[in-house]
Amino acid sequence: MSIEVRHITKTFGRFKALDDVSLEAPDGELMALLGPSGSGKTTLLRIIAGLDRPDPRPESEILFHQENVARRGAGQRHVGFVFQHYALFRHMTVFENIAFGMRVRPRSARPAENALRARVRELLRLIQLENLENRYPNQLSGGQRQRVALARALAIEPKVLLLDEPFGALDAKVRQELRRWLRRLHDEIHVTSIFVTHDQEEALEVADRVVVMNEGRIEQVGAPEEVFHRPATEFVMRFLGNVNLFHGRVESGDITFGPFVLGRAAQPVPDGKEAHAFVRPYDLEIRRDRAGGPALDARVARVLSAGPVVKVELKTDNDKSLFVEVPHDRYRALNLARDERVFVSVRDARVFVEDYVI
Ligand code: ADP
Ligand code: MG
Repeated sequence: MSIEVRHITKTFGRFKALDDVSLEAPDGELMALLGPSGSGKTTLLRIIAGLDRPDPRPESEILFHQENVARRGAGQRHVGFVFQHYALFRHMTVFENIAFGMRVRPRSARPAENALRARVRELLRLIQLENLENRYPNQLSGGQRQRVALARALAIEPKVLLLDEPFGALDAKVRQELRRWLRRLHDEIHVTSIFVTHDQEEALEVADRVVVMNEGRIEQVGAPEEVFHRPATEFVMRFLGNVNLFHGRVESGDITFGPFVLGRAAQPVPDGKEAHAFVRPYDLEIRRDRAGGPALDARVARVLSAGPVVKVELKTDNDKSLFVEVPHDRYRALNLARDERVFVSVRDARVFVEDYVI
């Protein structure tokens, strides 16, 4: 394990920003901390970096490579940090910005000038900005500046790289390019990294593992496929993409939602207990007829076909909206028009019965 955090609590006044958080990041992993604004991501990152202290509790621990660093300040933890708002030095060139961390080291630890120049060149190659070393920050695009900020953080050869919404201030297209770029970069350098984001797509695309946070607690830790397809809680299900919610109940062990039975309680669950079924838009199926199993009646309310899939909004008879995603070829075959009557069936659902996961 490269980073281990155990039983970390942080209160501001009476407010608990982190509530007994424990986390492990294996060596060389790129881990995403994902959660809505205010869920405690930055607080946790700052505590790992040594920029903030957790509440003093005997069971709290912060270990880097099995070594307890809780008492060390940020300067002694060998952490590289990249923030949302690039804090490049405006009066320094790209080259000097990247070299800065090495130049301010104590004389005994400072590399010789030619070794330093070689290291900066290596980093410029890594961030693919070899030709821009003499530019100043205001002569760079936002994406280029964040790449320089990353190179600057890597220049000190950190044991751990922490990134707090590094692409948060950039526009969608640049964000997408940079997240792929970060993934490739990480595949090349393998420095243990924790990447904070509130953007689920970004987390799912970039990270080896995703830590989903909510109100100062960890809801689930898992590979992107795992948290997406097997969400442990309702919060995770809702947060990781669009879902349709159905209300139902347990009846003689069957978990029923209108015409559908979407599960059977594995453990004894009292009858009448409330259940929620979450269905991703691509797991609802639009049909032209009733044949082939239970279905809901609905009417086509809206169709958005400009995109990789066709998004169809349906209204049920009690005026509930359902959001369905249909592949283009299937959409052409269905030949749907607004206000037409259709039938909807459920291909797959994630069912939660109050405190149980089914
Ligand atoms: P995130 O990065 O997930 O958006 P933060 O870790 O920044 O969330 O904040 C978590 C909660 O802690 C928020 O409600 C925030 O207002 C509160 N908080 C963070 N820092 C402080 C502070 N220095 N003083 C008081 N409250 C704070
Ligand atoms: Mg934050």
